[in-house]
Amino acid sequence: MRILFVTSEAYPLIKTGGLGDISYTLPNALRQLGVDIRLLLPGYPAVLEQLSLIEVHENIRLPPLQEPIRILTGIMPGEITPVYVIECPSLYERDGGPYQDSNGKDWSDNALRFGILSQVAALFGSHHLLFKPQIVHCNDWQTGLVPAFLTFNPNQSARTMMSIHNMAYQGIFPPEVVESFGLPPESFSISGLEYYGKVSFIKAGLYYSDWITTVSPTYAKNIQTPTYGCGLEGLLTIRQAQLTGILNGIDTEVWNPDTDPLINHNYNTKSLLLKSRNTQELRKKLGLTSSTQTPVIGMIARLIEQKGIDLVLPIIPDMMKSGAQLVVLGSGDKKFEEALQQLAKYYPQQISVTIGYNEELAHQIEAGANMFLMPSKFEPCGLNQMYSMYYGTIPIVRRTGGLADTVIDATPNNIQAKIATGFIFEKENADELLFCIRRALRTFRDKTTWRQLQMTGMNRDFSWQESAKQYVSLYHSILN
Ligand code: ADP
Repeated sequence: MRILFVTSEAYPLIKTGGLGDISYTLPNALRQLGVDIRLLLPGYPAVLEQLSLIEVHENIRLPPLQEPIRILTGIMPGEITPVYVIECPSLYERDGGPYQDSNGKDWSDNALRFGILSQVAALFGSHHLLFKPQIVHCNDWQTGLVPAFLTFNPNQSARTMMSIHNMAYQGIFPPEVVESFGLPPESFSISGLEYYGKVSFIKAGLYYSDWITTVSPTYAKNIQTPTYGCGLEGLLTIRQAQLTGILNGIDTEVWNPDTDPLINHNYNTKSLLLKSRNTQELRKKLGLTSSTQTPVIGMIARLIEQKGIDLVLPIIPDMMKSGAQLVVLGSGDKKFEEALQQLAKYYPQQISVTIGYNEELAHQIEAGANMFLMPSKFEPCGLNQMYSMYYGTIPIVRRTGGLADTVIDATPNNIQAKIATGFIFEKENADELLFCIRRALRTFRDKTTWRQLQMTGMNRDFSWQESAKQYVSLYHSILN
């Protein structure tokens, strides 16, 4: 089975969120099942620096791009997965992030940058290049044009799978994109990639791909409704028979409290008491007062509305009164960053806010915090709640998407049945969240129940094994 996995980010080369993690862990898991899966990525500076690359194709001309591109290849660091990299300095070699400049503004030429990524993937999919995949596995809007290019290519040789990691990002661009990339005018219609007079990259992927997946069964249902479908719920409902939700797994080598080199004291279910040493270290590092009675609530997230920061902000004074400490790591909307920093100034010994991206601190928060807050408005899958359960850090989440599929609420019945792993609230409402946090704080004082929640979470299987098998069987059914 030969698969080309096209993605705009992949850990450890370049990562802005969950897609980066998945683009590393899923291909690894699939390789272990014998799939010849290879990655295709844009040649950002971080990618070119970290890989030893050799050229495999030169002088490829892809309209509307003026300059020729080269395709290089290397191997993922510490792994065996081959990576193809598009070298095109004018598109990808610049300071800033993969999608935005350092001020957080989208690159103005994103249609071209990711249209070219999609065109190169389509070259692979029409067997014009060295590696001849049977399926091109596309990820999010950045790769949405691949199925469109292949549909209109008489040499199409590969089938396509489109995986949605977040419906809220769609890649909407002016209609001229159609002509500039040489797509036929008839593609610009409601039965195609047109979306309210513009081109939607994600719609192209959803419309033209052979199969659609998303990253949890509940999110697969969510996106067929107006609240979560972001305008494409109608198309997704029509394609329901080819839409599958497969839960993401976590990389239990990178995220494992027993072996994690980034935390101060390793621990497992047998040495769970050592976790409290990580809590002490975390408090010391971040300047919080030491107390065994006051739990630390952690939060690591892109600070944007999706993650429910606006629900957290108004209840912080109440959380402090109820006896909790809060540790936040993230970056995003300036208004949220500033509001959190203000609160940290007001409660210097109870709240710590770190703005930025910090892999080491993220691991130390997972190990040191007692609870983990994820009050997302929507969450396609979410990884941090799984890392948390695996680290004995009890998640507090809203019942949506992958959070609903992975966390089991600590109701009296579920506690009695020994299946509870966290605390869940239903509505997008700050009072409900506060009520849920207080429920967690009360349970924290009952050491026996708390330990049971921790043990149940730590013993759950969040690995990729089962999910990777589901991808393989979908690949087979697409080919058949
Ligand atoms: P999303 O993809 O919506 O950002 P996920 O929970 O699926 O959310 O994945 C987020 C990933 O990014 C996790 O691995 C998380 O630990 C990491 N992450 C997010 N923000 C930061 C940060 N500021 N520093 C370090 N890691 C972060």
